[in-house]
Amino acid sequence: MSILKVARMGHPILRGKARPLEPAEIRSTRIQKLIDDMFETMKEYQGVGLAAPQVHEDVRLFVAGLVRNSDEEADENEDEDGEDVPLMALINPEITIVGRETVEDWEGCLSIPDIRGRVSRAEKIVARAYDRAGKRIEVRASGFTARVIQHETDHLDGVLFFDRMKEFGSLTFLDEFGRYWSQ
Ligand SMILES: [Zn+2]
Repeated sequence: MSILKVARMGHPILRGKARPLEPAEIRSTRIQKLIDDMFETMKEYQGVGLAAPQVHEDVRLFVAGLVRNSDEEADENEDEDGEDVPLMALINPEITIVGRETVEDWEGCLSIPDIRGRVSRAEKIVARAYDRAGKRIEVRASGFTARVIQHETDHLDGVLFFDRMKEFGSLTFLDEFGRYWSQ
């Protein structure tokens, strides 16, 4: 597996609309390797989600999940977010919002390093997609997992979390986030 280079805000690939994948292409060696490399890259940079355009691949695919190492699993109670995100690779995802509830919370992005900002998102969603075997799946999610899926699906349409902010007063650098806002 390889660690891939992550495109940063300003790179045009982050602003385009990515193309869908056919089930047969999903099962190809190229896409299977891309998925493995994206999981590896997400883990390396301690992200909870990574979309293909972020690694310069113009396809509708993202990976997500909190990838803990074995040391961290032993201290599960110390997880600050308190919400795990199951490991998933979703291809051609389509999101349906469930209910009207929205929730505002902090987001970051590997393509916008060391910045955090508050973004309003739907609390509950259903995502319909292909899994990495090319099988149709349906993922029901709420809270932080729903937030991650919405953030990553946005990347496939060239949308960054700044675009979803109602106002920019909450924008903070990571150091200051840790100092003043992370509790
Ligand atoms: Zn992002």
